[in-house]
Amino acid sequence: MAEQPRLLEGLDPEQRQAVIAPRGPVCVLAGAGTGKTRTITRRIAYLVQRGLVAPQQVLAVTFTARAAGEMRTRLRELGAAGVQAQTFHAAAFRQLRYFWPRVHDTQMWPLADNKFRLVMQAAHRLGLSTEREDVRDLAAEIEWAKASLVGPDQYPAAAAQAGRVTPVLPQQLAQAFAGYEKLKNEARVLDFDDLLLHIAAILEERPDIAEEFRARYRSFVVDEYQDVNPLQQRVLDAWLGSRDDITVVGDANQTIYSFAGATPKWLIGFPRRFPEATVVRLERDYRSTPQVVDLANQVIGAARERPAGTRLRLVGQRSDGPRPDFAEYEDETAEAEAVARRIARLAGQGVALSEIAVLFRVNAQSEVYEKALSDAEIPYQVRGGERFFARAEVRQAMTALRTALAHGAESGDLPATVRDALREVGLVDEPPAGGAARERWESLIALVELAEELVAAVPDADLARYVRELEMRAESQHPPTVEGVTLASLHAAKGLEWDAVFLVGLVEGTLPIQHADTDAAVEEERRLLYVGVTRAREHLHLSWALARAGGGRRFRKRSRFLYSLVPDDHPAALPNKVRQRELLAKPKKKTNPRCRMCNAELVSTMDVKLGRCADCPSDVDEGLLEQLKAWRSARAKQLKVPAYVVFTD
Ligand code: ATP
Ligand code: MG
Repeated sequence: MAEQPRLLEGLDPEQRQAVIAPRGPVCVLAGAGTGKTRTITRRIAYLVQRGLVAPQQVLAVTFTARAAGEMRTRLRELGAAGVQAQTFHAAAFRQLRYFWPRVHDTQMWPLADNKFRLVMQAAHRLGLSTEREDVRDLAAEIEWAKASLVGPDQYPAAAAQAGRVTPVLPQQLAQAFAGYEKLKNEARVLDFDDLLLHIAAILEERPDIAEEFRARYRSFVVDEYQDVNPLQQRVLDAWLGSRDDITVVGDANQTIYSFAGATPKWLIGFPRRFPEATVVRLERDYRSTPQVVDLANQVIGAARERPAGTRLRLVGQRSDGPRPDFAEYEDETAEAEAVARRIARLAGQGVALSEIAVLFRVNAQSEVYEKALSDAEIPYQVRGGERFFARAEVRQAMTALRTALAHGAESGDLPATVRDALREVGLVDEPPAGGAARERWESLIALVELAEELVAAVPDADLARYVRELEMRAESQHPPTVEGVTLASLHAAKGLEWDAVFLVGLVEGTLPIQHADTDAAVEEERRLLYVGVTRAREHLHLSWALARAGGGRRFRKRSRFLYSLVPDDHPAALPNKVRQRELLAKPKKKTNPRCRMCNAELVSTMDVKLGRCADCPSDVDEGLLEQLKAWRSARAKQLKVPAYVVFTD
């Protein structure tokens, strides 16, 4: 018999305590890089090895498909193959596909392949703007509502209470939301949040199904619990029923999805909800050098509000590394070119490209880096943008591959067959220089590489097997990986780590983002910086540019978060006088004006302009309303709300 993996090796006493805790509630509250994910993976493997739970009775949920994939690989290595590690959505999808026919007497409705179009139709019917950015804002707000368990009727009140800056009048949003739901039901399709809503409802309303479910799954584990939203928590409660075999880990200082409805309150409140829980706090940071840890402590130490239980200080465990570096550039192009040069230098020193990441606040920042990296002939992959299988070129490619399969188009060499089929949708041999064409090429070439991987794993795989593999991946959102430098938004980077991390574009208006106009929103931006800093194992480079790509006249200011971080003896340090002035500047305080008719607090920007709430009769003329709509739509374009990337990889 093969020797069993030693599961308690390489753990510190606190991590070990969490691993060996008896079945029942366990909570690990700890900072970044302290081994939370390692601890829960070991705990699952330990319970399985000891025979305390069968692998198929464990359900572990993580935030991204990539994290889930990594956890499954680790569990296999640790002798616990068969444990389900999935995103909330993927887990719900699987369960719903199983139970739906029993509840509704039909096959499960498919996922909407173009949710955006449905939102656009709903907006169009109401005479709202159908411009891309406006529709995206609407869709994001509908996602917030669904994640917050708020229906169309409750939306205006809930949005006001949560202080949402709504993209259209709250009443209009509620109508668009209702219209979208109706269109979606008529088309008999589901969106991602429906997966969670339906499975929760089924388990809540059908005791027979709940019983069957609970006989199957007995032990639950949640990573990144600080970013759970009310909808996910409801699903978790439905899974759990009255049982308490649940392990959660998280870091309230890494809550970065509260704009989308997430809240750390369940993480912080866990020990109160389960007074008998094993609660473990970890402080030793195993990921980063003491230099990086020091900077991370400074970033989060400056936070304005730190609820009890989040005041943890990280203690670096690794040996010394280079000091984090700061640099200021004339414009974004110069910044991106300098980053590309530094990456080339690191690669020359032996750092693997897959161990390097460039992280930014909004996806739009990626373009200038894509160009600089392709000019420098450095391969890269963009993560967390549009969902891989939702991209137009990937959908076209799937159609082309199915057509090829139907015609029997096969040469015996699967990668060559795939490559030939993808020529139909524009795959060329040489990578295009940059921009959209390059991104399209990267997607298509990733599909060819997937064929190569498949053949390596299953030598006699044919086109039919490959198409099946793709369909399975599309269903569970497991995009193929591309080797190279990672370009990702800070949101998409959570939980991950690289040897070298470049945090770029650190200017006011970008981090903190322009629409972060309340203290709470600024604090979330600070936590994003903390997440970014703590992704680095060794090399950390922070930079900003004083103008947009290609110069431009508008001068930008470095991010306020940098003032106290750049050391005095650093060339990028500001003169003391300027720094003091900036540090002492009062934060912008947001007080909402009130409706001049009923005195209700005004939430949407449009309401504020009109000086009245949506419930009071309009006394403005149509012309002014049109002007305001145009102004609102122009403003919406400046403000880029980050895509909610839970399901992307
Ligand atoms: P995050 O908050 O960013 O998700 P985390 O707390 O989940 O971080 P892990 O990703 O589990 O941290 O661990 C960070 C790194 O430290 C990993 O490379 C992990 O392998 C390593 N590590 C964790 N615990 C130990 C340990 N006891 N000894 C050595 N290395 C460790
Ligand atoms: Mg983790």
